[in-house]
Amino acid sequence: MQLFKNLFGAKVDGMALVRSQELKEYAQIELLAHFAQPQAAHDVNAQRAWSRVLPRPYAEMLTFFQKQGWLTSTPAGYVVTDAGRVLVDAYRQRTAAEKQAAIEGVHAALAQMMTSEALTIRRQYENRTPLGKADWTGPEPQMNHSAVTRRIFFLDHWLLDGLSEETVKWLKLYAAEQHLWGVHWRLKPDQIPPFVAQELARPDMDIVESVYWRAHAVALYVDNQETWQRVKGGDHVRRLEIVGTDDEYTCEHCRQTLGKQFLVARVPELPHRECTSPRGCRCRYEPVLEALEEIPLVAG
Ligand SMILES: [Zn+2]
Repeated sequence: MQLFKNLFGAKVDGMALVRSQELKEYAQIELLAHFAQPQAAHDVNAQRAWSRVLPRPYAEMLTFFQKQGWLTSTPAGYVVTDAGRVLVDAYRQRTAAEKQAAIEGVHAALAQMMTSEALTIRRQYENRTPLGKADWTGPEPQMNHSAVTRRIFFLDHWLLDGLSEETVKWLKLYAAEQHLWGVHWRLKPDQIPPFVAQELARPDMDIVESVYWRAHAVALYVDNQETWQRVKGGDHVRRLEIVGTDDEYTCEHCRQTLGKQFLVARVPELPHRECTSPRGCRCRYEPVLEALEEIPLVAG
């Protein structure tokens, strides 16, 4: 009964929740922040996930927020009140600072090629988020993820032909950072050193785009190489499908292999040397699951 009274009766210090290091406490504000714009309650599965990290079940939490005057129900859905918005804004400042610290930590570790330390920083950062996953990072990393990232630093490939040692070093660090986080993002022009800008300048795109696609190709290469090496020795996968983006930048050569399946031993090497896309070859290997292959093809 005492608990019940504490939960619904007394006014709670919202700022203490915003600043708390206890997951159960700051998770409440993270949930509240979801309603910065009018939103329906989460679906049943998401509510279950939230309930595991909240001090009370999801539905009770929404009632609690309303009793605290932080949340209100409108025809468009739940939305934070002015009092709630103060908390949400403060919480967003906190999470932005934590994100920045994590990105800088990973960058510093990778600058010394300490890839497993970098992955630990990523995991610690994600583990502190209420649902164990940041909305801006890539898929849950595999066990060997940092080892694959590490290959970038030792890469000697025609993708890097003709570039100076300094530019290769800079490009590898950019690619490794994105690979480690599992996401690709564009830099600000002032984050690109002049010598890199000079070497990677292209007439058909600005420098931000140009370095973005060069780094993208490097990160994609180590992933493709990893997929190919993983399946070539195993019995479970006999075929690889070539998948990738098909848009106005896709060249005819790449377009001809998109969606095609090959025996692992006969699959064309990626990236395609013949690719003429200004964005580079964006083709990937996708292991073909045997169960799909067993479905008989109907003759047309
Ligand atoms: Zn391609």
